[in-house]
Amino acid sequence: MAARDATRATPQRIGRLGLFGATEQEDAFVCAEWQELAPRLRTVGLWGGLCFAAGSIADGVLMGAGAPWIPLLLTRLLVLGLGLHLAWLTRGAGAAEPARLRRWLLVFQAAVLLGLRVIVQLQGVISPYQLIVALVACMMFYGYVPLLRRAQLWFMPLWLALALLQMSLTAHTAYTTILLFGILLGFVNIIGWNLAVHTARAQRQGWLARRRLQLEMTERATAEQNLRHLFEASPVPLVLARQPLGQILHMNQAALDLLDPRRVLIDPALATAADFYADMRTGDMLGQALAHHEAFGPVDLRMRDTSRELVDVMLSARKLRYNGRRAVLVSLVEITHRKRQEHELRRLAHTDPLTALHNRRGFFARAEHLAGQAGQLPIGLLAIDVDHFKHINDSHGHATGDLVLQQLAGRMASILREQDVLARIGGEEFAVLLPATSARRARAMAERMRRVVCDHALRCRGLRLQLSVSIGVAMLEQPGEDVDALLARADAAMYRAKQDGRNRVLALDLATPV
Ligand code: GH3
Ligand code: MG
Ligand code: MG
Repeated sequence: MAARDATRATPQRIGRLGLFGATEQEDAFVCAEWQELAPRLRTVGLWGGLCFAAGSIADGVLMGAGAPWIPLLLTRLLVLGLGLHLAWLTRGAGAAEPARLRRWLLVFQAAVLLGLRVIVQLQGVISPYQLIVALVACMMFYGYVPLLRRAQLWFMPLWLALALLQMSLTAHTAYTTILLFGILLGFVNIIGWNLAVHTARAQRQGWLARRRLQLEMTERATAEQNLRHLFEASPVPLVLARQPLGQILHMNQAALDLLDPRRVLIDPALATAADFYADMRTGDMLGQALAHHEAFGPVDLRMRDTSRELVDVMLSARKLRYNGRRAVLVSLVEITHRKRQEHELRRLAHTDPLTALHNRRGFFARAEHLAGQAGQLPIGLLAIDVDHFKHINDSHGHATGDLVLQQLAGRMASILREQDVLARIGGEEFAVLLPATSARRARAMAERMRRVVCDHALRCRGLRLQLSVSIGVAMLEQPGEDVDALLARADAAMYRAKQDGRNRVLALDLATPV
């Protein structure tokens, strides 16, 4: 019972007779389907009324001069008036008052049917013409007039009953004629009733389906609009690109600010992702990652904006389907500033502030990098220690000692090749990496280094300082060899050089001592 009540309370329920249970629903239906309903109602009112009035001709033919003209004419004019009023109600663009319209349609239908009975009564004869009129009325009211009220359905059966009563009581018609009339019109009524109910239901179902579709479309459009708004308003730069060619589909405002700061792009859809890679290998790397994963990142990448400026970004990507086609949604976080800071910190961490050479850490980073590259082998390493440097500090002060270290660094650097690495790895200790250098050439370079220091005295703060260095040489021949051990070997050689009298080059592990 409760379930039935709930169903009845459903506002969109279509009843057994093809009409909505709720009047508001019927009103909404009439308003929404007005374009369809109005012409029908107008035709019914205007042409139905006019034809009814034109029935005066039949009155004349049937009754001649003896007809009760005035009551006949009044009846016909009354129906015509109601018909015209109904037609008048349908003017304008929409049904302003569906309830009023439904009421007047009912009044008009009642007037037509009762009017016909009155006319038959006034004519006083039953004729085949009246049967035709009855059939036409059935056809019109069941088949053509839109069903807007339940009462409309009962008009024709009541009217038939009235006609049969009239035929038997007042017109003294033969029983066979009444029977035939009853059977024929009874059958037409059954068919017509079903037709009217079916049509009314189909019309309402169609309207509901269209409304549902419209609602869904509106909701979809709103959802799409919201998503688009979210995409556009996102503070994170977002790029949607087609897969696998990388044609840009959309870039949000933040992405345009990042990748097209001067608004050079006329239409972002004409660009491809590759236009923004600083390095063409980036495209291959991303293509590979997307081929094997649904999503990847964050990865640090270097991109190039439309003004060819480099931009460091942290990129994350996810594959998806957009408009039924393969696409990828990419988010970018700018890290140029962070990267610069990182780079600067790394540089500072690897640099000796006094001489601007690599410090111990920088030396090891470079050495390990070179040691991992087969093309750079063999690598010569020179461990250089200034002889009796303490004496400089003691005699001329620490500040002078600093200047001496700077000048020494410059002097040693002046004879190195571009690919060689000079580092200050301790107080007055230096080291040199000589990539792709044979043992013989490394020793020769060590000798040149020794001579460049001792052959000419340094001039510093008006002083003439004669300095010398002791140098140990070691060689790295195999890729990935331990750099610590290499330096230890060079150091050992350097200490031997000290012991042997200083200002000399020694290569302990090399075949020929220098
Ligand atoms: P040798 O190597 O020939 O045995 O003698 P040395 O006098 O050079 O050796 P030692 O290791 O005893 O002295 C190194 C000196 O270098 C001690 C220290 O005062 C000085 N020194 C280390 N770092 C700096 C620096 O940054 N600036 C200055 N001015 N002196 C430094
Ligand atoms: Mg020393
Ligand atoms: Mg020394």
